[in-house]
Amino acid sequence: MEDKLDEFNTDAGCPKCGSKIITKVKYTWWGGVLGPRLLHHTKCETCNYRFNGKTGKSNTPGIIIYSVLIFVVLFVIFYFIKTM
Ligand SMILES: [Zn+2]
Repeated sequence: MEDKLDEFNTDAGCPKCGSKIITKVKYTWWGGVLGPRLLHHTKCETCNYRFNGKTGKSNTPGIIIYSVLIFVVLFVIFYFIKTM
């Protein structure tokens, strides 16, 4: 059973409440449009729990790593602009 959503196992549903009504998060304040896509960020419409649609686990560690990475990239860019 492989379709467009092959990266996401919809049979598993929400890891917290088991609901099958789940949607992919397209935009977040912490990651823009790229962050949620990289982390397979998924939201349960029933209990509002957000998780990694690929692993079914919480995305909090991923969000922290992503935020730190973005900060480092921005810092490096800023550093290079300043030294030019
Ligand atoms: Zn849920």
